[in-house]
Amino acid sequence: MAETIDVELRQVTKQFGRFTAVDNVSLKIERGEFFALLGPSGCGKTTTLRLIAGFELPTQGEVMLNGEPVGQLPPFKRNVNTVFQSYALFPHLTVEENVAFGLEMKKVDRKEAARRVGDALDLVRLPDIGHRRPHQLSGGQRQRVALARAIVNRPRVLLLDEPLGALDLKLRKAMQLELKELQRQLDITFIFVTHDQEEALVMSDRIGVMNEGELLQIGRPSEIYDQPNSRFVADFIGDTNFIPCRVESCDDGLAQVAIGDNLLVNAMSATAVSAGQEATLAIRPEKIHLQKIGDEVYHDEANFTGVVEDAVFLGTDTLFKVRLAPSVLVEVLYQNENAIFAELDFGKGDTIGVSWMSSSARVLTI
Ligand code: ATP
Repeated sequence: MAETIDVELRQVTKQFGRFTAVDNVSLKIERGEFFALLGPSGCGKTTTLRLIAGFELPTQGEVMLNGEPVGQLPPFKRNVNTVFQSYALFPHLTVEENVAFGLEMKKVDRKEAARRVGDALDLVRLPDIGHRRPHQLSGGQRQRVALARAIVNRPRVLLLDEPLGALDLKLRKAMQLELKELQRQLDITFIFVTHDQEEALVMSDRIGVMNEGELLQIGRPSEIYDQPNSRFVADFIGDTNFIPCRVESCDDGLAQVAIGDNLLVNAMSATAVSAGQEATLAIRPEKIHLQKIGDEVYHDEANFTGVVEDAVFLGTDTLFKVRLAPSVLVEVLYQNENAIFAELDFGKGDTIGVSWMSSSARVLTI
């Protein structure tokens, strides 16, 4: 069966005066997907969401909903609903009245509206507080009322702009799982804006990473984490060692590069590279393997000796700083359980074996 595209942006640019907030963004979001737009503050996430909702119109390009260009269609005529970070509840209305508001506007029959409001409040697990007003609710409850209000119309697409931003960490984590579960039950397409990489990784089917108005990479969480296509993406999501390198050769995505004082290593190439090119080798701290000199080598594809400069105890993990060459210092992360198992009782000044798999290392040029 052909996939159904619910939301599509075709080379969309949005300028405010001479400032480009969204820069030539193309994107397809499938029916029923949980899609996160992730990026630092000011990168254009909210503007992208507002372009989909119809609160902004593109300077160039086209927004398509359910396969049709929406042109200048106003927000209330688009089959999308938005949950704002501020929740935007009406303070003088009760919870039930807040949730029913959209149905009243649409002149839905009273009985039917009451049933749908009850269903929506059940879904967000707030069945018993329909008579209260927003100031009598906790932050988490207000957040759920805002959600109930957005889903009561059963929109095809729900846009969520940092909806968990105002919650404390514990509640935020609980709500992340609840939202994901709710989305499964409703089978509505969710587009979720966040600057929190962990939140995006936990909740999304796919993530679009933005910076300075550009959409840099789109992929499943594991793709974005394991196969970043740029320094920005590798750096924004998780921790990474960046090592300056020179490309020696490249064949079908597998490159050989030189680091430090001509140590040769193999790595996957994110983009086309050619011999002689200066680039960056990226490798995650938990993908590097340490061992005693003389022990059997696990990953013989990249295999060096190094000197431990520091071993920092972090509770569940230990962070080793290991010098591979005068100009190359890498950070290596081990869960303490595994470190004990592997007898990694190294200290400052010890010479050790260091290795990693070529498939864990990426050559980046941007
Ligand atoms: P945050 O996470 O801080 O909300 P964001 O990624 O959602 O950031 P946007 O709100 O989309 O970023 O803003 C992108 C850029 O566009 C910012 O530099 C912002 O100042 C600018 N911008 C947004 N709206 C307007 C406007 N109406 N007029 C002028 N500039 C604007």
